[in-house]
Amino acid sequence: MAELDIPTIPHWIDGAPTASRSGRTAPVFNPATGVVAANVALADQTETDAAIASARRGFEEWSTWSVAKRQGVLFAFRELLNARKPELAAIITAEHGKVLSDAMGEILRGQEVVELATGFPHLIKGAYSENASSGIDVYSLKQPLGVVGIISPFNFPAMVPLWFAPVAIAAGNAVVLKPSEKDPSAALWLAGLWKEAGLPDGAFTVLQGDKLAVDGLLNSPMVESISFVGSTPIAQYIYETAARNGKRAQALGGAKNHMLVLPDADLDLVADQAVNAGYGAAGERCMAISVVLAVEPVADEVIAKISDRIAKLTVGNGAQTGDAEPDMGPLISDQHRQKVAGYVDIAEADGATIVVDGRSLVVDGHEDGFFFGPTLIDGLPTTSRAYREEIFGPVLSIVRVESFDEGVALINSGEFGNGTAIFTNDGGAARRFQSEVQVGMIGINVPIPVPVAYHSFGGWKKSLFGDAKAYGVHGFDFFTREKAVTARWLDPATHGGINLGFPQNT
Ligand code: NAD
Repeated sequence: MAELDIPTIPHWIDGAPTASRSGRTAPVFNPATGVVAANVALADQTETDAAIASARRGFEEWSTWSVAKRQGVLFAFRELLNARKPELAAIITAEHGKVLSDAMGEILRGQEVVELATGFPHLIKGAYSENASSGIDVYSLKQPLGVVGIISPFNFPAMVPLWFAPVAIAAGNAVVLKPSEKDPSAALWLAGLWKEAGLPDGAFTVLQGDKLAVDGLLNSPMVESISFVGSTPIAQYIYETAARNGKRAQALGGAKNHMLVLPDADLDLVADQAVNAGYGAAGERCMAISVVLAVEPVADEVIAKISDRIAKLTVGNGAQTGDAEPDMGPLISDQHRQKVAGYVDIAEADGATIVVDGRSLVVDGHEDGFFFGPTLIDGLPTTSRAYREEIFGPVLSIVRVESFDEGVALINSGEFGNGTAIFTNDGGAARRFQSEVQVGMIGINVPIPVPVAYHSFGGWKKSLFGDAKAYGVHGFDFFTREKAVTARWLDPATHGGINLGFPQNT
């Protein structure tokens, strides 16, 4: 494709695609081919201000709509998303690289939150205490914040925005979404769908950009809150800056998730689930399993079973459909591929054995794609950076431990606390695990324990800065501000005249 033919992905402001005039862009690759498929606009301060102002106008309209009318928009959005999700899956795969069925899985988990949000009246109704003092009633109102900012990572370009936006919008807020510049098109597609569902212009705005746009949101007095998902150093920066500027903030960071395997576990289940959780989405999931802690004497058997399964995995272009769909697509960028390879180099230099080595994988017909084969490491020293740091690629490390206690102590010694899992048939051990482990989301014989929409998603320690997790009750608390009213009424005699019709909601 000639340079001039490459499209530039716009913002979505005032309910329409809006071309950028900033003169700044970033390339968007198809990771399976390594080809630049588009450029994405990178906002300047003027565009950032315009997006926020549009969202503010959207908020002033949307927040006055009745609960019944707002609910109608949420239901319409759910129906449109459900009917048209294959379009969105294709967009995700083209820019992210994950296989189509996995892209569909991400959308379904996001759709769950939309479904939760359709029931928002129940979640934002306040409480009422009659006659709290003589002749005095006390009640609470949950009101929207105003314009809220969402900043999302590359690895879930639809699901992460859907963790927050349906809840924020249902509660009456207007959203400015700043998607990852690596896969920015899913956000635009969602914006079009909100419009079709009847959301007023401005109430869902997409601001394409990089640090400049993020800092514009963080520093704008018109933005009331920031919901961020991404790597830990940026999450910490976002949280600290937002808090300093008096904003409400939730910033979800990186992870290093361990699976503890007790000797009594079903080792075929362990191997299946370690492969699913380690190599699915090429390991680019914040809930991916990165380390298998095998309580001896099972490590050799676990390694043999995982190796057998890896030998059957296919890696290729995630856009291939049906029987041709591979198990794993490429990584997001060449730079990221080099980073992942660097961690395998570090593990090797630190004395680990590379049992299966994906560093030199080349996919036929896709020689320029950003592929990295499934990699299995044995004997990784826990002092190695490859053990302690997040790799975010298809690299699974086995660490041999002698006991349950040694395994839990290792998990608790890490700086992250996103997800973890235990595999065992011993209920007492599982119960101790859930109680003692310093991690926010725990699986018991379940490898990727992403909570359903009516619970909340979030880790501990450096995996979440802030007090509120994503979605569930936490989400509605985050996106509303409570008022307590103390009222005394001396004359209750009011009525609305005569109307014999059955009462209706409008
Ligand atoms: P990232 O931190 O590089 O980027 C996330 C967002 O921050 C993007 O929108 C990006 O444009 C913006 N950004 C990047 N650098 C910035 C800077 N210096 N200042 C301001 N904004 C900046 O993360 P990523 O590579 O897109 O995503 C992968 C990371 O996200 C992994 O660490 C993964 O664990 C994490 N993640 C965490 C969760 C979770 O729930 N905890 C979920 C998904 C991903």
